[in-house]
Amino acid sequence: MDKQAFESILHKDILQRDDLITLLGAKGDNLKQLLDHALAVKLEHLDNNIHLRGLVEYSNTCRKNCKYCGLRVQNTKVVRYTVPDDEVLQCARIALEQGYGSMALQSGERTDREFVDGVERVVKAIKQLSGGKLGITLSCGEQSEETYRRWFEAGAHRYLLRIESSTRELYYTIHPHTPEHSFERRLECIDTLLRLGYQTGTGVMVGLPAQTLGHLADDLLFFRSKDVAMVGLGPFIPHPDTPLWELRDQIPSKEERIELTTKMIAALRIMMPEINMVSATANQLLDPQGRERAVLAGANVIMPNLTPNRYREEYLIYPDKANVGDRPEEAYRNLEARMNAINHSILYNEWGDSVAFTKRKQHTKGE
Ligand code: SAM
Ligand code: SF4
Repeated sequence: MDKQAFESILHKDILQRDDLITLLGAKGDNLKQLLDHALAVKLEHLDNNIHLRGLVEYSNTCRKNCKYCGLRVQNTKVVRYTVPDDEVLQCARIALEQGYGSMALQSGERTDREFVDGVERVVKAIKQLSGGKLGITLSCGEQSEETYRRWFEAGAHRYLLRIESSTRELYYTIHPHTPEHSFERRLECIDTLLRLGYQTGTGVMVGLPAQTLGHLADDLLFFRSKDVAMVGLGPFIPHPDTPLWELRDQIPSKEERIELTTKMIAALRIMMPEINMVSATANQLLDPQGRERAVLAGANVIMPNLTPNRYREEYLIYPDKANVGDRPEEAYRNLEARMNAINHSILYNEWGDSVAFTKRKQHTKGE
């Protein structure tokens, strides 16, 4: 497209579905215009700071059977674990020492009492150990309102629940059509999290079989309609022990998936300048420069993995051999230099809350 015509889309007050499809299809000079503009919007509204969340892959036990994920209940090759409290607390100590400011606990989905109590207990213990210094994000799937409330009251204040695809039909091509995998229930959970006062994050996988630019544009419109505080977008990576592996020839190439993810991040940064956006680990896996590319397109959050090594090889949502051998402290030692090299800095010892969320809260209080 003519450069001037493309520039005028970038500067529209409200981007419509057709505009978003144009942005997501950008190539060559237009792609550069998109990325440059998204970076400028981020620097204007947020600055060049990167927030860290020390990630603990808390448990790989899952009752669900998502067709894309290596942790699905029918994958009997996985040895199931839950990290004991004392080891989670050891990770919290590392997070404090490294000045990460926040932790994120991610897990398969369980709703039984032992699990719900366990998450509540460990959240309280992290708060106590850190004297409230560590912010806590949870990503433990769909739960009852009561459970979400208990975890919130225990001290978790951010929650990530990706919608995976905001198009119902596409959602059911990647999930079994059963009551445990209900699209409506997923939406309900996101609404509950928003209502309870969590900084709520959602997101999708990019490069799914049969996913079109129209679907992705609708995902962006969905994020805006929910006015979420955070978004996590990452490329889909096929796992050999899942049903979607069969369709691996029907998805875009690695480079196409990472480029498309980058365009999604850039378009969303322009639409929602003040939200937090995570540079997903999957970006890094598909391209050694994937993290930098996501940050330069508008991401402002990175999640260094603190999970003790012996659990990591059993938390393979997608095949990720590179991740398994790293020592937590070493894996991110050069992160600061890498961020400095692209003119970004890491903000230590801060929770790194979403500016969009904080402003909305102040506004509501003032009313
Ligand atoms: N169980 C919780 C849930 O599903 O919300 C949280 C953990 S789950 C492993 C976190 C995210 O991993 C999912 O939301 C999904 O988007 C992503 N994921 C799972 N399998 C994937 C794959 N094969 N490629 C890329 N991302 C994947
Ligand atoms: Fe379980 Fe989450 Fe994986 Fe689905 S994506 S199988 S809920 S861990």
